[in-house]
Amino acid sequence: MRALVLLVALAVVLSACGGLFAAGELTPVPSARATATPAVPSASVAIASPTATPRPTPAAGACQREPSSCAIADAIAKIDPAKMNDHLVALTSVGSRDPRHPGHAKAVAYIKEQLNALAYYGWKIETQKTSYQGIALENIFASLDGASAASSGTASPRPKPPTRTVLVSAHYDSTANRTAGWRPAVDAAPGADDNATGTAALLEFARVISQTVRERLESRITLAFFDGEELYFKGSAAWLATLKKPYDIKAAINLDMIGFNPLADRLDLLWYTNASAGLRDQVIAANDKYGIGVTPLIAQFAADGNTIMDAAPFGIAGIPSIALCQRYGETDATFPGNYTFHTVNDTAAQITNKRLWLKAAKLTLATALELASSP
Ligand SMILES: [Zn+2]
Repeated sequence: MRALVLLVALAVVLSACGGLFAAGELTPVPSARATATPAVPSASVAIASPTATPRPTPAAGACQREPSSCAIADAIAKIDPAKMNDHLVALTSVGSRDPRHPGHAKAVAYIKEQLNALAYYGWKIETQKTSYQGIALENIFASLDGASAASSGTASPRPKPPTRTVLVSAHYDSTANRTAGWRPAVDAAPGADDNATGTAALLEFARVISQTVRERLESRITLAFFDGEELYFKGSAAWLATLKKPYDIKAAINLDMIGFNPLADRLDLLWYTNASAGLRDQVIAANDKYGIGVTPLIAQFAADGNTIMDAAPFGIAGIPSIALCQRYGETDATFPGNYTFHTVNDTAAQITNKRLWLKAAKLTLATALELASSP
């Protein structure tokens, strides 16, 4: 039993959410650039919308202590776990989101349908098609520009500052390559924890931002639904390769596997190079400030050659980048290992810690909105 646990743990260490990072495919920016982007201190948060009746929630407590945080507290309180679950059920019901499987196109259609329904609020929906070894991949993006830019066509336009982008990403592709005999084009790969949980959270962010803080944003927010993560970050790396330098991404936040852990509301907070240290600290501060209650929240430096997940290409390129994952590495007292990982058994029924899932979503959105509160 212990040997089995160790084997599973090793598999998680080596292949959780993807695989080994092919560092040679990216050209890192000089480290001087990497240190030029400090995290936005909370004092500069411009989103402010005091609510008349503070709610009896931890986030409302943050609002009472610091009125500038009220709009963000209000936004994260509006994340609806039932809506996230609806998305997860839809995403897992296509059978597989492996890009070689017919279910993949159904997932793409679902994500686009959900985003297009919010286009009225100003979201710009874009896709990027690429390929890897003949396998067609498609990244999907939803971007909302800052209020300053959006108001330029109004009667009293505000000057349009050069806004940078807060990138929030999750990969939507799936795999079951740890199931013996699994055939990518035919067999199931429900990918509930990995990574319908993160994908569903992003879809809910689009709704919540539309209905709460959209007119108060000072930076562009881009929600990126990456493909090909299970083929070693081929989607995210392909997109990064198209971006001009210096990068205008002020922060990249990635969600990957956030709903399984039955033991604790634990998240590992992966960070990459010194450029990511300020962002890491801002996430830790937001967890306290908004009373989100992720515990333990364990920062882990992840810039070695085994770096995994879609945050890695951005982090190694010198962009402030972090990933939130329920566990990055071996099992311990707060994580039993996810035996469904990369198997046909990673089903919606296995998402047993929905409280953790919601907390991870709140922590991500709170951090992203704080960052988007300035140009
Ligand atoms: Zn993953």
